[in-house]
Amino acid sequence: MEHHMEHNGPFCQSCGMPVAEKDLLGTDREGIKTEEYCKYCYEDGEFKQPDITLQGMIDLCAGYLVQQGMDEAEAKGMLAQTLPLLKRWREESVS
Ligand SMILES: [Zn+2]
Repeated sequence: MEHHMEHNGPFCQSCGMPVAEKDLLGTDREGIKTEEYCKYCYEDGEFKQPDITLQGMIDLCAGYLVQQGMDEAEAKGMLAQTLPLLKRWREESVS
């Protein structure tokens, strides 16, 4: 399946967005940049949407990708394959 994540990391481990640019990086409790998460997901050591589910994150990210011109079904299909591999969701999906 064709996908659009051709950048060479790092990726946000919550939403999968490439965070190659430093000003996109989230911050930990001390305000220090972390390469694990983007600033939209993680700031000051806390997730900005602490209660969001994996499906919720797929829907949220798909909205952004559709705004960038991606087909909605294609975006959701890609996210459903890639987001569960990220650190935030790997840990949550173990039941
Ligand atoms: Zn993120």
